[in-house]
Amino acid sequence: MPLIIARHRAGSAAHFFDVEQQNGDDRKALCGFACGAGELVQLQNLSGVLPCELCIRDAPDDQLRPTREAVAAEVLPSDDEDSAHTYAVGLRGEFVWHDVPEHPVMQLYQGREVVITECGCIAFLVFGTPPERYARCPQCPAAN
Ligand SMILES: [Zn+2]
Ligand SMILES: [Zn+2]
Repeated sequence: MPLIIARHRAGSAAHFFDVEQQNGDDRKALCGFACGAGELVQLQNLSGVLPCELCIRDAPDDQLRPTREAVAAEVLPSDDEDSAHTYAVGLRGEFVWHDVPEHPVMQLYQGREVVITECGCIAFLVFGTPPERYARCPQCPAAN
């Protein structure tokens, strides 16, 4: 099942659509999001967009493995070398950032440092302040 990436004209989430879908003018994304073909803006890749997590989850593994990896590689924020602040983002590239304990348990994974976050997740360690597109993890204790 070849997939195309597209977002609704008025929305920011990028959904995945089955290319072979023939259903008149209606298009339905893997996650169930539906709209008219004319309302969709097709995207070449996932850079600069927010991929729909439900679509990613529902896509067949063989189709999407490269996309998943690309998502993880592309969405990881870059380190701010000068910053003393740290935070952590999930291994699957979720748009969530976590608090990092003062002396975190640290490991290397895919050539990057991963830590156990305050809420117990395993996540990539990043220096700096979280980009705006990331939401704060509600499970990290400091959020309460
Ligand atoms: Zn979707
Ligand atoms: Zn957390």
